[in-house]
Amino acid sequence: MSDTKYAQQGMTFRQSVEHMVDHAIEIMELDEGIGNAMKVCQSVVQVSFPVEINGKAEIFTGWRATHSDHRLPSKGGIRFAPIVDQDEVEALAALMTYKCAIVDVPFGGSKGGLVIDPRQYERYQLEAITRRFARELILKGYLSPAQNVPAPDMGTGPREMGWMVDTYRQMFPNDINYMGALTGKPVEHGGVRGRNEATGRGVQYALRELFRHPEELERCGLSGSLAGKRVIVQGLGNVGYYAAHFLETEDDCLITAIIERDGAVVNADGLDVSAVRDHVAETGGVKGFAGGEYREDGTAVLEMACDILIPAALEGVITADNAERIQASLIAEAANGPVTFAADKILQERGVEILPDAYCNAGGVVVSYFEWIRNLNHVRFGRLERRFHEARGEQIIAAIEDASGVEVPEHLRQKLARGADEFDLVRSGLDDSMRLALQSIIAVRRDNPKIHDYRMAAYAIAIEKVARHYRDIGF
Ligand code: NAD
Repeated sequence: MSDTKYAQQGMTFRQSVEHMVDHAIEIMELDEGIGNAMKVCQSVVQVSFPVEINGKAEIFTGWRATHSDHRLPSKGGIRFAPIVDQDEVEALAALMTYKCAIVDVPFGGSKGGLVIDPRQYERYQLEAITRRFARELILKGYLSPAQNVPAPDMGTGPREMGWMVDTYRQMFPNDINYMGALTGKPVEHGGVRGRNEATGRGVQYALRELFRHPEELERCGLSGSLAGKRVIVQGLGNVGYYAAHFLETEDDCLITAIIERDGAVVNADGLDVSAVRDHVAETGGVKGFAGGEYREDGTAVLEMACDILIPAALEGVITADNAERIQASLIAEAANGPVTFAADKILQERGVEILPDAYCNAGGVVVSYFEWIRNLNHVRFGRLERRFHEARGEQIIAAIEDASGVEVPEHLRQKLARGADEFDLVRSGLDDSMRLALQSIIAVRRDNPKIHDYRMAAYAIAIEKVARHYRDIGF
Protein backbone atom coordinates (compact mmCIF):
# COMPACT_ATOMS: atom_id res chain seq x y z
CA MET A 1 0.00 0.00 0.00
CA SER A 2 1.44 3.36 -0.93
CA ASP A 3 2.49 5.89 1.70
CA THR A 4 0.13 8.59 0.42
CA LYS A 5 -2.85 10.40 1.88
CA TYR A 6 -4.98 7.65 0.35
CA ALA A 7 -3.25 4.96 2.37
CA GLN A 8 -3.44 7.07 5.53
CA GLN A 9 -7.23 7.12 5.08
CA GLY A 10 -7.44 3.34 4.80
CA MET A 11 -8.14 3.29 1.08
CA THR A 12 -5.58 2.98 -1.69
CA PHE A 13 -5.61 5.17 -4.78
CA ARG A 14 -6.75 2.17 -6.85
CA GLN A 15 -9.62 1.47 -4.45
CA SER A 16 -10.63 5.12 -4.60
CA VAL A 17 -10.77 5.04 -8.43
CA GLU A 18 -12.62 1.69 -8.26
CA HIS A 19 -15.26 3.14 -5.92
CA MET A 20 -15.93 5.97 -8.36
CA VAL A 21 -16.12 3.53 -11.29
CA ASP A 22 -18.37 1.19 -9.27
CA HIS A 23 -20.75 4.04 -8.72
CA ALA A 24 -20.83 4.83 -12.45
CA ILE A 25 -21.35 1.14 -13.31
CA GLU A 26 -24.25 0.99 -10.85
CA ILE A 27 -25.86 4.12 -12.27
CA MET A 28 -25.60 2.73 -15.78
CA GLU A 29 -26.97 -0.68 -14.72
CA LEU A 30 -24.11 -2.33 -16.60
CA ASP A 31 -23.88 -6.10 -16.94
CA GLU A 32 -21.96 -7.39 -13.90
CA GLY A 33 -19.44 -9.35 -15.98
CA ILE A 34 -18.53 -6.34 -18.09
CA GLY A 35 -18.34 -4.19 -14.97
CA ASN A 36 -15.96 -6.64 -13.33
CA ALA A 37 -13.80 -6.83 -16.45
CA MET A 38 -13.59 -3.07 -16.47
CA LYS A 39 -12.27 -2.90 -12.93
CA VAL A 40 -9.22 -5.13 -13.27
CA CYS A 41 -5.89 -4.32 -14.85
CA GLN A 42 -5.30 -6.78 -17.69
CA SER A 43 -1.60 -7.16 -16.96
CA VAL A 44 1.20 -5.65 -14.95
CA VAL A 45 4.93 -6.23 -15.01
CA GLN A 46 7.40 -5.47 -12.22
CA VAL A 47 11.07 -5.07 -13.08
CA SER A 48 14.08 -4.75 -10.80
CA PHE A 49 17.46 -4.01 -12.32
CA PRO A 50 20.91 -2.91 -11.21
CA VAL A 51 22.69 0.21 -12.46
CA GLU A 52 26.21 1.14 -11.41
CA ILE A 53 26.07 4.42 -9.47
CA ASN A 54 29.35 5.85 -8.14
CA GLY A 55 31.07 2.47 -8.47
CA LYS A 56 28.31 0.52 -6.67
CA ALA A 57 25.39 -1.47 -8.12
CA GLU A 58 22.11 0.16 -7.10
CA ILE A 59 18.84 -1.73 -7.62
CA PHE A 60 15.86 0.09 -9.13
CA THR A 61 12.28 -1.19 -9.19
CA GLY A 62 9.52 -0.16 -11.55
CA TRP A 63 6.16 -1.24 -12.98
CA ARG A 64 4.14 -0.89 -16.14
CA ALA A 65 0.46 -1.82 -16.02
CA THR A 66 -1.95 -2.23 -18.91
CA HIS A 67 -5.50 -1.68 -17.75
CA SER A 68 -7.03 -2.28 -21.15
CA ASP A 69 -5.91 -3.08 -24.67
CA HIS A 70 -9.38 -2.90 -26.21
CA ARG A 71 -7.74 -0.30 -28.45
CA LEU A 72 -4.05 -0.46 -29.36
CA PRO A 73 -1.58 0.84 -28.50
CA SER A 74 -2.24 1.23 -24.80
CA LYS A 75 -1.16 4.66 -23.68
CA GLY A 76 -0.02 6.34 -20.50
CA GLY A 77 2.83 8.16 -18.84
CA ILE A 78 5.85 6.93 -16.92
CA ARG A 79 6.44 8.59 -13.59
CA PHE A 80 9.71 8.80 -11.69
CA ALA A 81 8.97 9.38 -8.01
CA PRO A 82 10.30 8.23 -4.64
CA ILE A 83 6.82 7.06 -3.67
CA VAL A 84 5.29 4.98 -6.42
CA ASP A 85 3.99 1.43 -6.23
CA GLN A 86 2.03 -1.16 -8.18
CA ASP A 87 -1.28 -0.05 -6.69
CA GLU A 88 -0.77 3.54 -7.82
CA VAL A 89 0.39 2.49 -11.29
CA GLU A 90 -2.69 0.27 -11.72
CA ALA A 91 -5.01 3.08 -10.63
CA LEU A 92 -3.37 5.48 -13.06
CA ALA A 93 -3.57 2.90 -15.87
CA ALA A 94 -7.34 2.56 -15.29
CA LEU A 95 -7.70 6.34 -15.37
CA MET A 96 -5.92 6.35 -18.74
CA THR A 97 -8.50 3.97 -20.24
CA TYR A 98 -11.32 6.28 -19.17
CA LYS A 99 -9.42 9.42 -20.15
CA CYS A 100 -8.78 8.21 -23.71
CA ALA A 101 -12.43 7.21 -24.11
CA ILE A 102 -13.69 10.56 -22.78
CA VAL A 103 -11.65 12.63 -25.25
CA ASP A 104 -12.15 10.14 -28.07
CA VAL A 105 -8.55 9.04 -28.45
CA PRO A 106 -8.46 5.47 -29.80
CA PHE A 107 -6.00 4.03 -27.28
CA GLY A 108 -6.17 1.59 -24.38
CA GLY A 109 -4.98 2.59 -20.91
CA SER A 110 -1.55 1.97 -19.40
CA LYS A 111 0.84 3.56 -16.90
CA GLY A 112 4.36 3.09 -15.60
CA GLY A 113 6.38 4.13 -12.61
CA LEU A 114 9.93 3.85 -11.31
CA VAL A 115 10.86 4.28 -7.66
CA ILE A 116 13.49 7.01 -7.78
CA ASP A 117 14.04 10.58 -6.67
CA PRO A 118 15.47 12.00 -9.90
CA ARG A 119 16.88 15.02 -8.08
CA GLN A 120 19.41 12.76 -6.34
CA TYR A 121 21.16 11.73 -9.56
CA GLU A 122 23.49 13.30 -12.12
CA ARG A 123 22.27 13.61 -15.70
CA TYR A 124 24.49 10.76 -16.98
CA GLN A 125 23.30 8.50 -14.16
CA LEU A 126 19.65 9.28 -14.93
CA GLU A 127 20.30 8.50 -18.57
CA ALA A 128 21.74 5.08 -17.70
CA ILE A 129 18.80 4.31 -15.36
CA THR A 130 16.19 5.49 -17.87
CA ARG A 131 17.72 3.56 -20.76
CA ARG A 132 17.91 0.40 -18.66
CA PHE A 133 14.27 0.76 -17.53
CA ALA A 134 13.22 1.23 -21.18
CA ARG A 135 15.19 -1.89 -22.18
CA GLU A 136 13.43 -3.94 -19.50
CA LEU A 137 10.00 -2.72 -20.63
CA ILE A 138 10.81 -3.37 -24.30
CA LEU A 139 12.02 -6.91 -23.58
CA LYS A 140 8.79 -7.66 -21.69
CA GLY A 141 6.54 -6.31 -24.46
CA TYR A 142 5.55 -3.13 -22.59
CA LEU A 143 7.02 -0.57 -24.97
CA SER A 144 6.48 -0.48 -28.74
CA PRO A 145 4.71 1.75 -31.31
CA ALA A 146 2.00 -0.87 -31.90
CA GLN A 147 1.27 -2.09 -28.39
CA ASN A 148 2.30 0.19 -25.57
CA VAL A 149 3.38 3.81 -25.94
CA PRO A 150 4.57 5.69 -22.82
CA ALA A 151 4.68 9.46 -22.36
CA PRO A 152 6.02 11.84 -19.69
CA ASP A 153 4.45 12.12 -16.26
CA MET A 154 5.59 13.35 -12.87
CA GLY A 155 9.41 13.47 -12.76
CA THR A 156 9.90 12.72 -16.46
CA GLY A 157 9.88 14.92 -19.55
CA PRO A 158 11.03 15.15 -23.19
CA ARG A 159 14.62 14.31 -22.24
CA GLU A 160 13.68 10.94 -20.72
CA MET A 161 11.38 10.18 -23.67
CA GLY A 162 14.28 10.96 -26.02
CA TRP A 163 16.58 8.49 -24.20
CA MET A 164 13.88 5.83 -24.24
CA VAL A 165 13.04 6.18 -27.93
CA ASP A 166 16.73 6.02 -28.77
CA THR A 167 17.01 2.80 -26.73
CA TYR A 168 14.09 1.35 -28.71
CA ARG A 169 15.68 2.42 -32.01
CA GLN A 170 18.98 0.74 -31.09
CA MET A 171 17.16 -2.51 -30.26
CA PHE A 172 14.91 -2.40 -33.38
CA PRO A 173 16.85 -0.56 -36.10
CA ASN A 174 14.55 -2.04 -38.77
CA ASP A 175 11.34 -0.70 -37.26
CA ILE A 176 10.57 2.23 -39.53
CA ASN A 177 7.95 3.42 -37.03
CA TYR A 178 10.32 3.47 -34.05
CA MET A 179 9.54 7.14 -33.38
CA GLY A 180 5.99 6.15 -32.44
CA ALA A 181 7.23 4.05 -29.50
CA LEU A 182 7.05 7.07 -27.16
CA THR A 183 5.34 10.43 -27.16
CA GLY A 184 6.33 13.65 -25.47
CA LYS A 185 9.72 13.50 -27.20
CA PRO A 186 11.80 16.61 -27.93
CA VAL A 187 10.64 18.23 -31.20
CA GLU A 188 14.11 17.65 -32.73
CA HIS A 189 13.69 13.92 -32.04
CA GLY A 190 10.25 13.27 -33.46
CA GLY A 191 8.13 15.19 -30.95
CA VAL A 192 5.22 17.34 -32.02
CA ARG A 193 5.09 21.09 -31.42
CA GLY A 194 2.79 21.85 -28.50
CA ARG A 195 3.11 18.52 -26.66
CA ASN A 196 5.17 19.86 -23.76
CA GLU A 197 2.53 22.44 -22.86
CA ALA A 198 -0.43 20.26 -23.86
CA THR A 199 -1.75 19.12 -20.48
CA GLY A 200 -1.67 22.62 -19.00
CA ARG A 201 -3.10 24.04 -22.24
CA GLY A 202 -5.87 21.43 -22.03
CA VAL A 203 -6.75 22.59 -18.50
CA GLN A 204 -7.08 26.13 -19.87
CA TYR A 205 -9.26 24.95 -22.78
CA ALA A 206 -11.44 22.93 -20.36
CA LEU A 207 -12.04 26.02 -18.23
CA ARG A 208 -12.67 28.19 -21.30
CA GLU A 209 -15.30 25.72 -22.49
CA LEU A 210 -17.00 25.64 -19.08
CA PHE A 211 -17.13 29.44 -19.15
CA ARG A 212 -19.03 29.24 -22.47
CA HIS A 213 -21.95 27.65 -20.57
CA PRO A 214 -23.49 30.21 -18.19
CA GLU A 215 -25.96 27.65 -16.77
CA GLU A 216 -23.05 25.39 -15.79
CA LEU A 217 -21.15 28.30 -14.28
CA GLU A 218 -24.19 29.05 -12.17
CA ARG A 219 -23.84 25.58 -10.57
CA CYS A 220 -20.34 26.66 -9.53
CA GLY A 221 -21.58 29.97 -8.17
CA LEU A 222 -19.59 31.75 -10.87
CA SER A 223 -20.50 34.07 -13.69
CA GLY A 224 -18.94 36.20 -16.41
CA SER A 225 -15.59 35.43 -17.99
CA LEU A 226 -12.31 33.99 -16.74
CA ALA A 227 -10.87 37.51 -16.49
CA GLY A 228 -10.30 38.50 -12.88
CA LYS A 229 -11.12 35.05 -11.46
CA ARG A 230 -8.92 34.14 -8.48
CA VAL A 231 -7.00 30.92 -9.09
CA ILE A 232 -4.87 28.86 -6.69
CA VAL A 233 -2.46 26.35 -8.22
CA GLN A 234 -0.69 23.53 -6.41
CA GLY A 235 2.48 22.30 -8.15
CA LEU A 236 4.42 24.43 -10.61
CA GLY A 237 5.71 21.55 -12.73
CA ASN A 238 4.88 20.82 -16.33
CA VAL A 239 1.09 20.78 -15.92
CA GLY A 240 0.70 23.42 -13.21
CA TYR A 241 3.10 25.91 -14.78
CA TYR A 242 1.52 25.95 -18.23
CA ALA A 243 -2.05 25.96 -16.88
CA ALA A 244 -1.28 28.89 -14.55
CA HIS A 245 0.83 30.76 -17.11
CA PHE A 246 -1.78 30.57 -19.89
CA LEU A 247 -4.65 31.47 -17.55
CA GLU A 248 -2.66 34.46 -16.29
CA THR A 249 -1.33 35.78 -19.60
CA GLU A 250 -4.13 34.86 -22.03
CA ASP A 251 -7.31 34.88 -19.91
CA ASP A 252 -6.38 37.56 -17.35
CA CYS A 253 -6.99 35.31 -14.36
CA LEU A 254 -5.38 36.33 -11.08
CA ILE A 255 -3.12 33.55 -9.85
CA THR A 256 -3.51 34.42 -6.19
CA ALA A 257 -1.43 31.55 -4.74
CA ILE A 258 1.08 28.96 -5.89
CA ILE A 259 1.80 26.00 -3.62
CA GLU A 260 5.06 24.09 -3.99
CA ARG A 261 6.93 21.48 -1.93
CA ASP A 262 8.40 24.03 0.49
CA GLY A 263 5.26 26.12 1.07
CA ALA A 264 3.28 28.69 -0.87
CA VAL A 265 3.45 32.25 -2.19
CA VAL A 266 0.32 34.35 -2.01
CA ASN A 267 -0.59 37.63 -3.68
CA ALA A 268 -4.21 38.82 -3.82
CA ASP A 269 -3.34 41.01 -6.85
CA GLY A 270 -2.00 38.06 -8.81
CA LEU A 271 1.43 36.46 -9.10
CA ASP A 272 3.76 36.63 -12.09
CA VAL A 273 3.79 32.89 -12.80
CA SER A 274 6.92 32.86 -14.98
CA ALA A 275 8.82 34.84 -12.36
CA VAL A 276 7.76 32.32 -9.68
CA ARG A 277 8.89 29.48 -11.91
CA ASP A 278 12.29 31.11 -12.47
CA HIS A 279 12.64 31.58 -8.71
CA VAL A 280 11.80 27.90 -8.09
CA ALA A 281 14.32 26.86 -10.76
CA GLU A 282 17.03 29.01 -9.14
CA THR A 283 16.39 28.27 -5.47
CA GLY A 284 14.49 24.97 -5.43
CA GLY A 285 11.36 26.45 -3.84
CA VAL A 286 8.97 29.39 -3.57
CA LYS A 287 10.44 30.73 -0.32
CA GLY A 288 12.06 34.13 -0.80
CA PHE A 289 10.04 35.05 -3.90
CA ALA A 290 9.81 38.83 -3.82
CA GLY A 291 6.45 39.20 -5.59
CA GLY A 292 4.33 37.50 -2.92
CA GLU A 293 3.96 36.62 0.73
CA TYR A 294 5.52 33.29 1.77
CA ARG A 295 3.46 30.76 3.78
CA GLU A 296 5.24 27.75 5.19
CA ASP A 297 2.10 25.62 5.43
CA GLY A 298 1.27 25.01 1.78
CA THR A 299 -1.56 22.59 2.56
CA ALA A 300 -3.46 25.32 4.42
CA VAL A 301 -3.30 27.50 1.30
CA LEU A 302 -5.45 24.92 -0.52
CA GLU A 303 -8.21 26.07 1.82
CA MET A 304 -7.95 29.79 1.03
CA ALA A 305 -10.82 31.61 -0.67
CA CYS A 306 -10.61 31.54 -4.47
CA ASP A 307 -12.80 30.91 -7.51
CA ILE A 308 -10.86 28.04 -9.06
CA LEU A 309 -8.54 25.61 -7.30
CA ILE A 310 -6.13 23.72 -9.57
CA PRO A 311 -4.33 20.86 -7.83
CA ALA A 312 -1.55 20.04 -10.29
CA ALA A 313 1.01 18.17 -8.20
CA LEU A 314 0.05 14.80 -6.81
CA GLU A 315 -2.82 12.57 -5.75
CA GLY A 316 -4.72 12.53 -2.46
CA VAL A 317 -4.29 16.19 -1.48
CA ILE A 318 -7.98 16.87 -0.86
CA THR A 319 -9.24 14.31 1.62
CA ALA A 320 -12.00 13.81 4.18
CA ASP A 321 -9.74 15.82 6.54
CA ASN A 322 -9.76 19.08 4.60
CA ALA A 323 -12.71 18.81 2.16
CA GLU A 324 -15.03 20.68 4.54
CA ARG A 325 -12.65 23.66 4.59
CA ILE A 326 -12.07 24.00 0.84
CA GLN A 327 -13.48 27.40 -0.15
CA ALA A 328 -13.09 27.19 -3.93
CA SER A 329 -16.36 26.82 -5.79
CA LEU A 330 -14.72 24.98 -8.67
CA ILE A 331 -11.87 22.47 -8.62
CA ALA A 332 -10.07 21.68 -11.89
CA GLU A 333 -8.22 18.40 -11.36
CA ALA A 334 -5.04 18.97 -13.33
CA ALA A 335 -3.23 16.26 -11.34
CA ASN A 336 -4.39 12.65 -11.34
CA GLY A 337 -6.50 11.68 -8.33
CA PRO A 338 -6.04 14.83 -6.20
CA VAL A 339 -9.49 14.38 -4.60
CA THR A 340 -10.11 11.14 -2.69
CA PHE A 341 -13.40 9.26 -2.95
CA ALA A 342 -14.44 10.37 0.55
CA ALA A 343 -13.57 14.01 -0.17
CA ASP A 344 -15.43 13.86 -3.46
CA LYS A 345 -18.65 12.97 -1.59
CA ILE A 346 -18.19 15.77 0.93
CA LEU A 347 -17.47 18.35 -1.78
CA GLN A 348 -20.49 17.23 -3.77
CA GLU A 349 -22.73 17.64 -0.74
CA ARG A 350 -21.30 21.13 -0.27
CA GLY A 351 -22.03 22.03 -3.90
CA VAL A 352 -18.40 22.36 -4.95
CA GLU A 353 -18.08 21.47 -8.64
CA ILE A 354 -15.18 19.38 -9.93
CA LEU A 355 -13.84 19.08 -13.47
CA PRO A 356 -12.49 15.53 -13.07
CA ASP A 357 -8.92 14.44 -13.83
CA ALA A 358 -10.05 11.94 -16.46
CA TYR A 359 -11.28 14.90 -18.51
CA CYS A 360 -9.42 17.93 -17.21
CA ASN A 361 -5.85 16.70 -17.70
CA ALA A 362 -6.51 14.75 -20.91
CA GLY A 363 -4.78 17.39 -23.07
CA GLY A 364 -1.51 15.48 -22.80
CA VAL A 365 -2.89 12.28 -24.24
CA VAL A 366 -4.80 14.13 -26.96
CA VAL A 367 -1.60 15.73 -28.23
CA SER A 368 0.29 12.47 -27.68
CA TYR A 369 -2.20 10.95 -30.10
CA PHE A 370 -1.34 13.68 -32.63
CA GLU A 371 2.37 13.03 -32.08
CA TRP A 372 1.93 9.28 -32.65
CA ILE A 373 -0.01 9.95 -35.89
CA ARG A 374 2.73 12.35 -37.00
CA ASN A 375 5.37 9.69 -36.29
CA LEU A 376 3.51 7.03 -38.28
CA ASN A 377 2.91 9.48 -41.12
CA HIS A 378 6.57 10.55 -41.13
CA VAL A 379 5.58 14.11 -41.98
CA ARG A 380 5.10 17.27 -39.93
CA PHE A 381 1.51 18.53 -39.69
CA GLY A 382 0.93 21.38 -42.16
CA ARG A 383 4.00 20.62 -44.28
CA LEU A 384 2.03 19.65 -47.37
CA GLU A 385 -0.78 22.15 -47.27
CA ARG A 386 0.48 25.33 -45.55
CA ARG A 387 1.70 27.19 -48.65
CA PHE A 388 -1.30 26.00 -50.63
CA HIS A 389 -3.65 27.57 -48.05
CA GLU A 390 -1.58 30.77 -48.05
CA ALA A 391 -1.89 31.01 -51.86
CA ARG A 392 -5.62 30.30 -51.62
CA GLY A 393 -5.94 33.08 -49.02
CA GLU A 394 -4.16 35.53 -51.35
CA GLN A 395 -6.56 34.56 -54.16
CA ILE A 396 -9.61 35.18 -51.95
CA ILE A 397 -8.23 38.59 -50.91
CA ALA A 398 -7.62 39.50 -54.58
CA ALA A 399 -11.15 38.41 -55.50
CA ILE A 400 -12.69 40.46 -52.65
CA GLU A 401 -10.66 43.54 -53.66
CA ASP A 402 -11.53 43.11 -57.35
CA ALA A 403 -15.25 42.74 -56.64
CA SER A 404 -15.51 45.50 -54.04
CA GLY A 405 -12.85 47.92 -55.21
CA VAL A 406 -11.83 48.24 -51.54
CA GLU A 407 -8.43 47.24 -50.21
CA VAL A 408 -8.52 44.56 -47.48
CA PRO A 409 -6.94 46.04 -44.32
CA GLU A 410 -3.47 44.74 -43.47
CA HIS A 411 -4.46 43.03 -40.19
CA LEU A 412 -7.19 41.03 -41.99
CA ARG A 413 -4.92 40.32 -44.95
CA GLN A 414 -2.34 38.76 -42.63
CA LYS A 415 -4.94 36.53 -41.00
CA LEU A 416 -6.61 35.47 -44.26
CA ALA A 417 -3.36 34.73 -46.08
CA ARG A 418 -1.75 32.72 -43.33
CA GLY A 419 -1.47 28.94 -43.65
CA ALA A 420 -1.67 26.92 -40.44
CA ASP A 421 1.61 25.50 -39.09
CA GLU A 422 2.03 22.50 -36.79
CA PHE A 423 1.54 24.56 -33.61
CA ASP A 424 -1.75 26.01 -34.94
CA LEU A 425 -3.07 22.62 -35.97
CA VAL A 426 -2.14 20.89 -32.72
CA ARG A 427 -3.75 23.65 -30.66
CA SER A 428 -6.85 23.63 -32.80
CA GLY A 429 -7.16 19.83 -32.51
CA LEU A 430 -6.66 20.00 -28.75
CA ASP A 431 -9.19 22.79 -28.37
CA ASP A 432 -11.72 20.86 -30.43
CA SER A 433 -11.20 17.67 -28.37
CA MET A 434 -11.56 19.47 -25.02
CA ARG A 435 -14.65 21.39 -26.18
CA LEU A 436 -16.47 18.35 -27.59
CA ALA A 437 -15.67 16.21 -24.57
CA LEU A 438 -17.04 18.76 -22.09
CA GLN A 439 -20.12 19.31 -24.22
CA SER A 440 -20.82 15.54 -24.05
CA ILE A 441 -20.19 15.49 -20.29
CA ILE A 442 -22.58 18.39 -19.77
CA ALA A 443 -25.24 16.71 -21.95
CA VAL A 444 -24.99 13.38 -20.10
CA ARG A 445 -25.27 15.14 -16.73
CA ARG A 446 -28.27 17.13 -17.95
CA ASP A 447 -30.06 14.14 -19.50
CA ASN A 448 -29.49 11.49 -16.82
CA PRO A 449 -31.38 12.22 -13.60
CA LYS A 450 -29.17 9.76 -11.67
CA ILE A 451 -26.02 11.75 -12.50
CA HIS A 452 -25.29 14.77 -10.34
CA ASP A 453 -21.67 15.62 -11.12
CA TYR A 454 -19.20 15.95 -13.98
CA ARG A 455 -17.08 13.02 -12.78
CA MET A 456 -19.92 10.52 -13.00
CA ALA A 457 -20.99 11.96 -16.36
CA ALA A 458 -17.42 11.58 -17.68
CA TYR A 459 -17.12 8.02 -16.35
CA ALA A 460 -20.53 7.13 -17.80
CA ILE A 461 -19.32 8.20 -21.25
CA ALA A 462 -16.05 6.29 -20.92
CA ILE A 463 -17.58 3.14 -19.47
CA GLU A 464 -20.28 3.02 -22.11
CA LYS A 465 -17.65 3.23 -24.88
CA VAL A 466 -15.44 0.51 -23.41
CA ALA A 467 -18.47 -1.68 -22.54
CA ARG A 468 -19.73 -1.36 -26.11
CA HIS A 469 -16.39 -2.66 -27.34
CA TYR A 470 -16.53 -5.62 -24.93
CA ARG A 471 -20.13 -6.38 -25.94
CA ASP A 472 -19.40 -6.18 -29.70
CA ILE A 473 -15.93 -7.70 -29.95
CA GLY A 474 -15.47 -9.58 -26.65
CA PHE A 475 -12.95 -9.14 -23.86
P1 NAD B 1 6.09 17.54 -12.58
O1 NAD B 1 7.03 16.61 -11.92
O2 NAD B 1 6.53 18.28 -13.79
O3 NAD B 1 5.55 18.64 -11.54
C1 NAD B 1 5.05 18.34 -10.28
C2 NAD B 1 5.21 19.61 -9.46
O4 NAD B 1 4.59 19.42 -8.19
C3 NAD B 1 6.68 19.96 -9.19
O5 NAD B 1 6.88 21.33 -9.41
C4 NAD B 1 6.86 19.58 -7.72
O6 NAD B 1 7.85 20.35 -7.07
C5 NAD B 1 5.47 19.86 -7.17
N1 NAD B 1 5.18 19.14 -5.94
C6 NAD B 1 5.58 17.91 -5.58
N2 NAD B 1 5.13 17.60 -4.35
C7 NAD B 1 4.42 18.67 -3.93
C8 NAD B 1 3.70 18.97 -2.76
N3 NAD B 1 3.62 18.11 -1.76
N4 NAD B 1 3.08 20.17 -2.67
C9 NAD B 1 3.15 21.07 -3.68
N5 NAD B 1 3.83 20.84 -4.82
C10 NAD B 1 4.45 19.66 -4.94
O7 NAD B 1 4.79 16.65 -12.87
P2 NAD B 1 3.65 16.93 -13.94
O8 NAD B 1 3.99 16.21 -15.18
O9 NAD B 1 3.34 18.36 -13.97
O10 NAD B 1 2.44 16.11 -13.27
C11 NAD B 1 1.67 16.66 -12.22
C12 NAD B 1 0.38 15.86 -12.12
O11 NAD B 1 -0.31 15.92 -13.37
C13 NAD B 1 0.54 14.38 -11.79
O12 NAD B 1 -0.57 13.95 -11.03
C14 NAD B 1 0.48 13.74 -13.16
O13 NAD B 1 0.08 12.38 -13.10
C15 NAD B 1 -0.56 14.60 -13.82
N6 NAD B 1 -0.53 14.57 -15.29
C16 NAD B 1 0.59 14.93 -15.98
C17 NAD B 1 0.56 14.93 -17.37
C18 NAD B 1 1.72 15.40 -18.21
O14 NAD B 1 1.56 15.51 -19.43
N7 NAD B 1 2.87 15.70 -17.64
C19 NAD B 1 -0.60 14.52 -18.04
C20 NAD B 1 -1.74 14.18 -17.30
C21 NAD B 1 -1.68 14.22 -15.92
